[in-house]
Amino acid sequence: MGVEQTLGNNVITTTLDKVVNWSRAKSLWPMTFGLACCAIEMMAAGAARFDLDRMGVLFRASPRQADLIIIAGTVTKKMLPVIKVVYEQMPEPKYVVAMGACACSGGVFDTYSVVQGIDEELPVDVYVPGCPPRPEGLLYGLQKLQEKIMREKNSFGAAIGVGDRVIEA
Ligand code: SF4
Repeated sequence: MGVEQTLGNNVITTTLDKVVNWSRAKSLWPMTFGLACCAIEMMAAGAARFDLDRMGVLFRASPRQADLIIIAGTVTKKMLPVIKVVYEQMPEPKYVVAMGACACSGGVFDTYSVVQGIDEELPVDVYVPGCPPRPEGLLYGLQKLQEKIMREKNSFGAAIGVGDRVIEA
């Protein structure tokens, strides 16, 4: 057996929370969803040169299969209800990355028609600054999200209906 050969007579001890956190952090599946120019950089991050797949980040075509939404681009007030519906269709636990100046704060669009930061509407976990951020910036942001997930407490308990997950701010 492969496991016996790898581990020999040794044992590994860990906690269920760490196993659950590790499996979530290393298999983030973002919704295939972009809003403006930042989405082009997000697509580049997913393509061969930067290759998000190697981090376990695989874009999904349905919110019901996704646990991450990357808000990549300008959020107009007209588009906001659509974004909220997509977010609400994603199962728990779910995470939000605000990519670029527009998603973080409205960017240069200080106008009546643009939401001045998606954190007014959704619970953002990681902010990636820039206009646009390069793919490396998004990669770094996703690594920070993975680190944040690894620090969650009571992940297993929440999964079986005992208490809530404790997430750092
Ligand atoms: S932050 Fe810059 S690059 Fe990104 S959507 Fe806004 S204007 Fe476009």
